[in-house]
Order: sequence, then C-alpha cells, then structure tokens
Amino acid sequence: MYILKHRKFFKIKAILLLILVGHFQNTLAQQNSTKNTLNGKIICIDPGHGGSAATDSYRQGPTGEREEWIDLRVALLLKEILEEKGAKVLMTRSSDVPFPLAERSKMAVENKADFFISIHHNATADPSVNFPIIYYHGLASENQAGVAFGKMLAKNLKKYMYKTKTPYSVVSDFTIFSGAGSSVLRGTYGIPGVLAEASLFTNPEEEARLKTREHNYNEAHAIAKAIEKFFKKGNLTISPKTPSKFPPQFATLQEADRMSAIARRWHQDYIDGKKLMKKKDAESQQKAYDLFTQSARSFPDSYVAAKCHKYRAAILRKQGKIEEALKEEIRVKEFYPN
Ligand SMILES: [Zn+2]
Repeated sequence: MYILKHRKFFKIKAILLLILVGHFQNTLAQQNSTKNTLNGKIICIDPGHGGSAATDSYRQGPTGEREEWIDLRVALLLKEILEEKGAKVLMTRSSDVPFPLAERSKMAVENKADFFISIHHNATADPSVNFPIIYYHGLASENQAGVAFGKMLAKNLKKYMYKTKTPYSVVSDFTIFSGAGSSVLRGTYGIPGVLAEASLFTNPEEEARLKTREHNYNEAHAIAKAIEKFFKKGNLTISPKTPSKFPPQFATLQEADRMSAIARRWHQDYIDGKKLMKKKDAESQQKAYDLFTQSARSFPDSYVAAKCHKYRAAILRKQGKIEEALKEEIRVKEFYPN
C-alpha cells in the first residue's frame, strides 16, 4: 500500500515536472520571440543638439537641466533596449558634442537605416504646460508611415510618462518650419521616422522628473515599444513630396518669440476665441478669428492649434471666403491629423 502510494506520488511528481518544464520552455520561447522582434533592423537614433551649454542659454529648465543632456540620456537607454531586441543601432552622437544636422541625416541614409528617430524635449513660455509633441515630415497624406508611428508613439508616451490624462500633438514639421520642415526629417525623408518632443522641461515638475533615470527609462521604453509595434503592423507607406499640394504659408512666431508674454496667452486666446465664436455678429466672428490666429501663431504645435485652424476655416466659410476656407481645411487635414 505504502509502495503503491509512493509510486503514484512519483508519477504525479513526474507529470508535474513535465508540465513545468513545458511551461518554462514555452515562456522562454515567448521571451525569445519578443526579444528579437527587431532582428536585423537598422535604427538610427539622433539625440538632439549637443555641446551647446556655453553658447545657448534658453535650452534649459528652471534649475538648469539642459535639453541636450536629457536627449542623450534617453537615447543611450533606447539604444540598449533596441539592441536587446536584436536591432542594429546607429547613434548620431554618443556624448555631449555638437554634430552638424546634415551629417545626422546623411548617417541614416548612407547606412540604409530602416527607421530614424530624433529625440528632443521642448520649451515654451508657459511653465504650467507639459505634453508630448511628435513631428512627422511633410503632408499626412504622403507620409503615412510617419503619421501612423507618431500616433503610436504619442499614446505610448502618455501611458509610460504621464500619470494624469494628457493631451498630445502629432503634427507636421511644416507647422513650425513652414514649407521646409526640420532638417533631419527632411534629410531622411523616405525612411520611416519622426522627431519626438516627449515632454516640456520648462515645466518645473517635469524638469525634476527628467533628471531621474527611471523617467528617462520610461521614455526609452515607450519609444522602443512603439517601434516594435510599428514594424509588426508594417505600414511603411511614404510617397514623394508634391510641393503644389502644400497649404499656403502661415507665419508663426520664431522660436525665441514663442517665450514672450503674447505667446503665453496661447491657451487663453483659444478659450476667448471659442466664446466669441458663439456670438453670431460679424464683429465677434472676426475677433474670434483673430484670436485663433494669434493662438496658432504663438504655439503652432500646441494641442489646440488644430482646433484653431479648424475654427478659422469655419469662420472663413461663414464670411463667404470659400477659397481661403478650403486651403485652411487642407492645412488641418495635412498638418494636424490627430
Ligand atoms: Zn530640441
């Protein structure tokens, strides 16, 4: 009886062991398959700026943390994560040194990169603001890969970097550099990629977080996850640019002026504009239009800029300026796809 029991016990033990081994083999296989999702992919990481602490005083947070240092820390963590997933990583810079913009895109193009990401953090006049802004190059209808990835990344940054509900912008780089876009995205056009400003270091709480490895890691993790998802989905469509389709230029405040007192009113201008728009008289409509224009000029990549342009188009229609309204509607569609 005892022996029988014992044997039975051994049998059960052996079965359990087999199940366990099987389970471990399965999880190992799963780990390996998630580990190597980027096998063979060449990914170019471009940490913004570099080596400009002595010459440039505005690219820093309230206690002096500099953008180019944050960009580099996140980029180096991202490199580690991507390499673990099997990617081959190119870095435009790996230390705090200047590196010409044209050389950055050249590196990606000449090494036939499959993906390009430029890592930045943003500054604005209003210290209360903090949200991610992702730029793709050119028109949404032509750079579908950039838009698709931009949306994936914005959602991930929200998830891993922000505790509270946060708005985000996925916008064309033409919103800030009219007709030309950013140098690195223009130079790498054809390779899927974006320029990501994950947060604003002019916000004091965010500046403090950005100094921590944990927050930098969360950002790198969010980017890596988005890249994996992007390659899994495989929407790599990027068509050649057709300048005739570009919406007319919209003059925005230059970078330094975006720190001014007028610029700080960007959100209030939008709120006031909406109130005035509800009044039906022509004068209020015109005033609302001007406020929306002012807001979009002050902060052309803000999360209300899309609505400012949309409302401008609506007011132009009411004023009978159909042609202008149509152009404004194209701007919304091509430059503000979210
Ligand atoms: Zn930057």
